[in-house]
Amino acid sequence: TSENRRYDRVLLKISGEALMGDQTFGLHPPTVERIAREVQSVRDMGVEVCMVIGGGNIFRGLQGSAQGMERTTADYMGMLATVMNALAMQGALEKLGIHTRVISAITMNEVAEPYIRRRAVRHLEKKRVCIFAAGTGNPYFTTDTAAVLRATEMNCQAIFKGTKVDGVYDKDPEKHDDAVRYDKITYDDVLQKHLKVMDASAIALARDNDLPIFVFSLDEPGGFRGILAGEGTFTRVT
Ligand code: UDP
Repeated sequence: TSENRRYDRVLLKISGEALMGDQTFGLHPPTVERIAREVQSVRDMGVEVCMVIGGGNIFRGLQGSAQGMERTTADYMGMLATVMNALAMQGALEKLGIHTRVISAITMNEVAEPYIRRRAVRHLEKKRVCIFAAGTGNPYFTTDTAAVLRATEMNCQAIFKGTKVDGVYDKDPEKHDDAVRYDKITYDDVLQKHLKVMDASAIALARDNDLPIFVFSLDEPGGFRGILAGEGTFTRVT
C-alpha cells in the first residue's frame, strides 16, 4: 500500500457525538473502540495520525450559557469534556497496541501532556498517535478551529472530518430526500452558502493555509482508510 499512499501526516476530526453510539449522551465504549480500529488501519499504512475530538456528547459551552451560565465558564467545561473523550480514545488505541499521547491545550500534567509544538512533532515522527485535547484552550472557539490550527501547526497534508454522512450536501440529507452531495466545493462556497461542514472560523483558517478538508462518513467500515486511498464517497473542500 505504500506505493499508492498519498499522505504522510493527517488529522482526523470527529465530534464528541461520534463517540455516543446510539446513546443520547456520553461515551459508548464499543463505538470508541470501533473508531480506534479505523485509526489503527490508517496508522498501519504508515500514515502519521493526529486527532481532535469534540466534546458535544458531554458538554457544549453554548448550551450552558443558554441556561444562564457565564459563557467563558461553560466553554472551559466544554474544553474539559474534550479531555475526557481524548482519554477514552487513548485507552482504546493503546488496547490495540498503538502508542498514543493526549496533548492538552490546558495544562493538567497528571492526565495529559502540555502542548509543546516540537514535542508533538517528535511524537508523530515516532509514529505515536497524538490526540489534541482541550480545543484551542480559549473560550469562544470550537474544536473544528482547534483541528485546523493543530493540523496546520503539525504540517498535516489534510484534515479528515468524519461525520454521520458521506460528505457535504446542499441541504441536510437526513431531512431532505432530494439533498445533493458535492464531490468538491470551495471554502468560499461553504462560507457563502452557510453549509454545515465546520464553523466559519475553521473554514477561513483552512482556506488561508491551503489545508484541504475531506468530509466522509465515519459509519462506513474501513471508510477512513479508503478515503486516504481516494476511494469511497466524500466531499473535498479546497
Ligand atoms: N471549546 C472552546 N474552545 C475551543 C474548543 C472547544 O471553548 O477551542 C468548548 C466550547 O464550549 C464547545 C465545547 O468546548 O462547545 C465542545 O467542543 P465542540 O462544540 O467543538 O465539540 P463537537 O461539536 O465537535 O463535539
